[in-house]
Amino acid sequence: MSREGGQVRAAEAGRRGSVGHVEVFRMDGVETSIVGRPRRLSADRRARPTYTLIWEEPLYAGNSNEGRWQEFGFTNRIYWSPNVDPNKGRQIGGLIMNKWLNLPSRQYRTYVNGPYQYEKRSDERGRLGYPVTRESPASGGRYNNFQGGAITYKFGATSAYATWGNIRDQWAAQNYELGPLGFPSSDEYLCQDGTTSNDGYESYGASGQNFQNGQYLTSGRRPPTLGYSSVLFSKLTYQSSSQYTTAISQASTAWNALGSVQVTPYDPVNPTLTNVEISDANRPDVTWAGLYSNTDFGVDTIQMNTAKLGNASNQRNVMTHEMGHALGLAHNCKSQLMDPISNSSVFAPQFMDQAAYRQLWG
Ligand SMILES: [Zn+2]
Repeated sequence: MSREGGQVRAAEAGRRGSVGHVEVFRMDGVETSIVGRPRRLSADRRARPTYTLIWEEPLYAGNSNEGRWQEFGFTNRIYWSPNVDPNKGRQIGGLIMNKWLNLPSRQYRTYVNGPYQYEKRSDERGRLGYPVTRESPASGGRYNNFQGGAITYKFGATSAYATWGNIRDQWAAQNYELGPLGFPSSDEYLCQDGTTSNDGYESYGASGQNFQNGQYLTSGRRPPTLGYSSVLFSKLTYQSSSQYTTAISQASTAWNALGSVQVTPYDPVNPTLTNVEISDANRPDVTWAGLYSNTDFGVDTIQMNTAKLGNASNQRNVMTHEMGHALGLAHNCKSQLMDPISNSSVFAPQFMDQAAYRQLWG
């Protein structure tokens, strides 16, 4: 601890035998142990928030309290774990720490078809674990590495983003932020079925992440499809008694933009087989806003629940989503059209939706 100078050492002298810590750190000299018994600071050392230890005791860290952490100022912490390095703690701060503390919780099911639970762990107990570096310069940004991945931000960005697993490997193979993808511009998408699917946990769903240059990566898993659809000879022909004619028109346009299957109304002048019937139901007793049903014999159906459909945006999203099921797409991930939780700001197939569509229809 050469940075601390003689004064601290002198003050510590009487405690030497059991004390391996120092109570004041400069943030550029943080790779040091924070373990040990803390000591109250003298008043002059409390003057500068970025220079001053706020918590006087190191707090426990880790699932079994094996680690320690301390806060410095309001935006910096040092974490130490014997499993990372018994001799050094690592600093995290600012946007990176904010992300690390607030990563989306993993969702999982406690039993088959049970309700989704959310694991409320991010920080060192979450998938990223402890920091293994301090905050370090990236090209045009900053990063910290963690046991399970990294958190990175671009200068000027309002958020840092985490990368891990297969997607991080792909990004690394393209030379991280120096490659064509640039910096990550989203976290990995949360998927419906149990977890985000890219971190070694069992999952059925697809998983993906956006990057700065308008590109994305997926985990490499195939996007989920239903295994059946209402498509016949590259056509999805519908008849409708629904009041949501605008939503139907918008949904058809959104899907037809992908080009491989034609979504088209039944034409009585030039009749073809009808593949799906769209109708309205008034069902305040159920949770669904829209429902696609596939039958082995007869016409498949899309029902729109007038009791659960709010404004035009909501109707448009649900109609486009149900049409996605009729096209054979299963549920996938948050922020995608096929997210099972209706998102009234998504009106067109997103990248995972499109990947599933291409898988089915080219
Ligand atoms: Zn659905």
